[in-house]
Amino acid sequence: MKWTDAEREKRFMAKVEMEPMSGCWIWTGCVLPHGNYQQPWVSFRGKQQPAARASWKLFKGEIPQKTMVLHDCHNCYCVNPAHLHLGDNVMNMKEMAHAGRQNGGFGAIGNELVKEAIELRKQGSKVVDLAKRYGIHHKSMSRILNGGRYRHLAKGENNHV
Ligand SMILES: [Zn+2]
Repeated sequence: MKWTDAEREKRFMAKVEMEPMSGCWIWTGCVLPHGNYQQPWVSFRGKQQPAARASWKLFKGEIPQKTMVLHDCHNCYCVNPAHLHLGDNVMNMKEMAHAGRQNGGFGAIGNELVKEAIELRKQGSKVVDLAKRYGIHHKSMSRILNGGRYRHLAKGENNHV
């Protein structure tokens, strides 16, 4: 079955939760491990690919070869095209190092910090306090802590856009 881009957009947006504070579009569909992170993943125009790339193609246009789609917001779950820009791997490394040094923002929160957050939660930290600590919305924090939204990954649930 062939979908139009309007239909693809509708399906894509159904998997997005807007985060009012940051303006991030938090991907609630499939995510897969990518280095230290989780990376939103989607089947778009018949090809499995990172959801940020699909978002770029859907809302902004084609991506030149050997070009990466990078986050302004360093939120690895975000697929808001307004928070994305094109770059190469060198730029990516620089930006990640910068974000990690600055504040350990959500994009840099990665698996290590998620583990830390889970540990702090066990020790009795409140979700809202943890959210503040990592600079993310408390709903995102609780989603990370509960893990439920992201656990179905890799099992190949219906994830086609
Ligand atoms: Zn964002």
